[in-house]
Amino acid sequence: MPTPQSPTLSNPINNGSRRGSDKWGSGHFAAPRGSRQHNGVDISAALGEAVLSPIDAKVVRVAYPYATDLSLTGILLEGVGRHAGFTVKIFYMSPEQSKIGKQVSAGERIGAAQSLLTKYPGIKNHIHLEVRQNGVVIDPQSLMPTLH
Ligand SMILES: [Zn+2]
Repeated sequence: MPTPQSPTLSNPINNGSRRGSDKWGSGHFAAPRGSRQHNGVDISAALGEAVLSPIDAKVVRVAYPYATDLSLTGILLEGVGRHAGFTVKIFYMSPEQSKIGKQVSAGERIGAAQSLLTKYPGIKNHIHLEVRQNGVVIDPQSLMPTLH
């Protein structure tokens, strides 16, 4: 669980709002996904929209949400400084290759949103944000005052 002194996270989409419900599900943390639960929060994003780092971080590597579909990609971030102890995965975005292995600040552009419409026709296009604090999955929205 987040502690009271946990630092806030920046919204990875400028003025981004949580994905509402569609026929594929709902965007909030712990929403049902078949027999499992959604382990992150989805934030509405248009194709090509800038994706910003939610934390001060080292960009570790490109990440892949699906082993069977490498066209959809994401990024793995490891928190530094005030965000030490956080690890963040963001899916459905194309990382800026020049930032892999580099350090970025919260709010800095790290990539661009992809389109999910081929894989999930009718879905509200979004990025998926997954946050661990000291190895424990948390609700990212609990630390993100600008996400509604
Ligand atoms: Zn998601």
